[in-house]
Amino acid sequence: MSDKPSVGKEILNYCSKCDLNLSALIVSMLGAEVSKVMCKTCKTTRRYKDPKGGATSPSKRKAAGKSSTPRTKRTVLSFQEVWREALETAGNPEPKPYSIRTAFDLGQVIEHPTFGVGIIQKRLHPDKIQVIFQDDERTLIHNR
Ligand SMILES: [Zn+2]
Repeated sequence: MSDKPSVGKEILNYCSKCDLNLSALIVSMLGAEVSKVMCKTCKTTRRYKDPKGGATSPSKRKAAGKSSTPRTKRTVLSFQEVWREALETAGNPEPKPYSIRTAFDLGQVIEHPTFGVGIIQKRLHPDKIQVIFQDDERTLIHNR
């Protein structure tokens, strides 16, 4: 029953020229998808764009899950902030003294004699770990 879009039909389109959601005529289709439309207001043929939801708040985020904090903001966070966040995620445990002979796990908090407290970010290799410290990320050897 629902109107399938097809060439010549009207569709609500976001017209970037008019900067409004306006009805447009479908000019071409790409399979089942609307490809190009002509805005009925300005008569411009453009790629079809889904109508913009007027009140879509950009701050609407998917409710953050548990420990898997997405690191997409990495570039704007200073290392110290990333480090602090990682430490909080780990639950601020007592750091385990770093030793080349100890096997460390992901997320474990260690204390390095030179670099201080770090959080294991990655296991790069059975004997290599990537650790984030307050000032930088470093690769350390472990499990030897
Ligand atoms: Zn238009």
